[in-house]
Amino acid sequence: MTEAWRPDGEDERRGASGPVKVRVPAKVNLHLGVGPLRRDGYHELNTVYHAISIHDELTARRGDTLTLTMEGEGTGELALDDTNLVIRAAHALAGYAGVLPHARLHLRKQIPLAGGLAGGSADAAAALVACDALWGTGLSRDELAGIAADLGSDVPFLIYGGTALGTGRGEAVSPVLARPTSWHWVVAIADSGLSTPAAYRELDRLRDSGAAGTPLGSTDALLGALRQRDPRVLARTLGNDLQDAALAMRPALADTLKAGEAAGALAGIVSGSGPTCVFLAADAAAAERIAAELTTAGVCREARVAHGPVAGARVV
Ligand code: ATP
Repeated sequence: MTEAWRPDGEDERRGASGPVKVRVPAKVNLHLGVGPLRRDGYHELNTVYHAISIHDELTARRGDTLTLTMEGEGTGELALDDTNLVIRAAHALAGYAGVLPHARLHLRKQIPLAGGLAGGSADAAAALVACDALWGTGLSRDELAGIAADLGSDVPFLIYGGTALGTGRGEAVSPVLARPTSWHWVVAIADSGLSTPAAYRELDRLRDSGAAGTPLGSTDALLGALRQRDPRVLARTLGNDLQDAALAMRPALADTLKAGEAAGALAGIVSGSGPTCVFLAADAAAAERIAAELTTAGVCREARVAHGPVAGARVV
């Protein structure tokens, strides 16, 4: 830790004088294996994260205090105070680096709220990267990921992006070395969100009553499929232990999954804790067709095409 410096006089030369813009992706879990509930209230996870091309954008400018404004998904719904993960991330970085948390932050949000796409975590990762550049704190990605882990289990992955294995409660991330392939996805966004803690509670309830499906187990099959270039092979290995819970809480998602497969998707799964459903398409043209059919079928608010893997939070 260093002594606090002020963004004036000599020190102003550290960091950016103009605005810093950071783009951060959404994530899907290609494999979400949920293990037992730990003593600390988290579940042990065995997951494969994958960053897709739906992005939020955070712009950071110099300011005399810390402020946040926003536009896009969730505007008017999402609190912009100290509870917002962007503000929490800025404070966490400032505390770690020993600087004043002064910035004017503006968020352009395309990732839906409480959608199982880790939008809040993405924004926290974006704030760490943006403020690090604005304040000239010059931390490494690994240091930023260390701060990120205290903000939320998915935040470290969104610092790195790509495709990565997540263990622990999801915060221990290691990259998956795969052939450079771009996979084509359709993302079906629901009218309203689902609470992540509620989905985990529902899974515990289903397991206690013997109504949950068999847990997924190892990621080996999926990791093997990622090394090949055939989306049909990958399709057979996608899985999510939280899907039963999301379907129990939102039965209409079964219709969304069926509609995607009827429209030609190779596979469809609930993303994370839902309610967003993601479909793997054979190629970009198939993804466009599936998205158009899902939109007209009325089984989701909106269907967007995306590709992955993409980079994590980056200055653009
Ligand atoms: P995950 O996939 O990580 O479980 P999610 O995509 O289901 O998350 P998020 O959009 O990340 O859900 O948000 C969950 C909750 O986090 C929101 O309902 C909101 O209360 C809180 N939150 C705090 N800051 C943000 C932010 N910047 N964007 C979105 N949600 C935020």
